[in-house]
Amino acid sequence: MLDRENAIRLKFRELYGSDQGLGLTRAPGRVNIIGEHTDYNQGYVLPIAIAQDTVVGFKPNGSRRVNVHSMTMEESASFSLDETPSGEGPRWVRYVAGVAAALQDARIELAGIDMVIHSTVPVGGGLSSSAALEVSCALAFPSAAGVDVERKKLALICQDAENKYAGMRCGVMDQYVALFGREGAAVKLDCRSLEHELVPLSTETAKFVVCDTSIRHELASSEYNKRRQTCERGVQEASRILSGESVNALRDLEPGDLSGLETELDPVTFKRVRHVVTENARVLEAARAMKAENYIALGVLMDASHESLRDDYEVSCPELDAMVEIAWSQPGVYGSRMTGGGFGGCTITLVSSDHVDSLCKNVALSYRERTGNVPSIYVCAPEKGAEVISPAF
Ligand code: ADP
Ligand code: MG
Repeated sequence: MLDRENAIRLKFRELYGSDQGLGLTRAPGRVNIIGEHTDYNQGYVLPIAIAQDTVVGFKPNGSRRVNVHSMTMEESASFSLDETPSGEGPRWVRYVAGVAAALQDARIELAGIDMVIHSTVPVGGGLSSSAALEVSCALAFPSAAGVDVERKKLALICQDAENKYAGMRCGVMDQYVALFGREGAAVKLDCRSLEHELVPLSTETAKFVVCDTSIRHELASSEYNKRRQTCERGVQEASRILSGESVNALRDLEPGDLSGLETELDPVTFKRVRHVVTENARVLEAARAMKAENYIALGVLMDASHESLRDDYEVSCPELDAMVEIAWSQPGVYGSRMTGGGFGGCTITLVSSDHVDSLCKNVALSYRERTGNVPSIYVCAPEKGAEVISPAF
């Protein structure tokens, strides 16, 4: 951290003058163990915060402007707190200006700041660099203005920022786990009640290995928004077909409802609904398996999740499938699936600790052979959530 802090301070001095009294916040990326595309259906998810994070250095500048530099993008920008984000300038600024606007929409009064962003979360790789950026900014702005905002409210404000100002209709999982993640525990979140339970997760005998396909398909955000629409249609249709049951979100359906829907819904909508309904059930089972340290059961659920995302929700891609199939064929692997929104990004594999090295080596080799791409591979453990490291003064 000291090296990073020094790098941020150096950049801050270079751009804005003194770094005396610099405030620092950080927020982690995340990897979702299971529960994909369930958050915006008011269902369950089971992510962990990871070691890769985004750090923001900031200081009030006595004006109504925000001057921001991203060391990741090697780019600077500036915006006024008194204007609605225009969408002009570099795309990434929408996340920062969006958080400022969403905080102000929630009637939180802000002051202008100078800021520098430094991140170790791979950008666009499915480990939620976007939420790490939003949440680190959402801690920095109120801190600089001397106000305290409750964490659940911050999660919703960050989601709002991404929905309204970055054009991505994401659910609340990424922002929530960035704020509530804990060392040694997964976060089982009920996305309807916004209540979570920490599920202890020891990584002594088995580990989670995240493999980045290094593929980013352009389709990701347009298909994501399309899936959301189909889910909304599914809710309307299901509530008509199952009249008498109150269906406000796909969360309200049970696996037992599916047979009654199959003949009534169009085949594509049915498949999307089936994914969400079965995935919610898998999350609950996975949390139980995790508590019992039953890695075999957890692995089976992860495999089933991948098949459902590939065949029913259709958000996988050849590279994700290749990565998962390679992992499935390796010794010591309990289970493997794509993780994140899909169309590229990462897979997550649960493997016994004594097979981690061989898995990493073999996946790197075989994936390169099959696709010509070089993957990045991370061994992940649950880490702590976002924090104000030091307030500005
Ligand atoms: P993911 O969240 O999986 O990494 P997204 O497409 O949701 O992928 O978010 C990536 C976008 O978030 C980037 O294209 C950029 O606009 C913004 N972003 C993330 N991290 C940074 C950063 N350190 N500096 C500037 N922008 C960032
Ligand atoms: Mg994202």
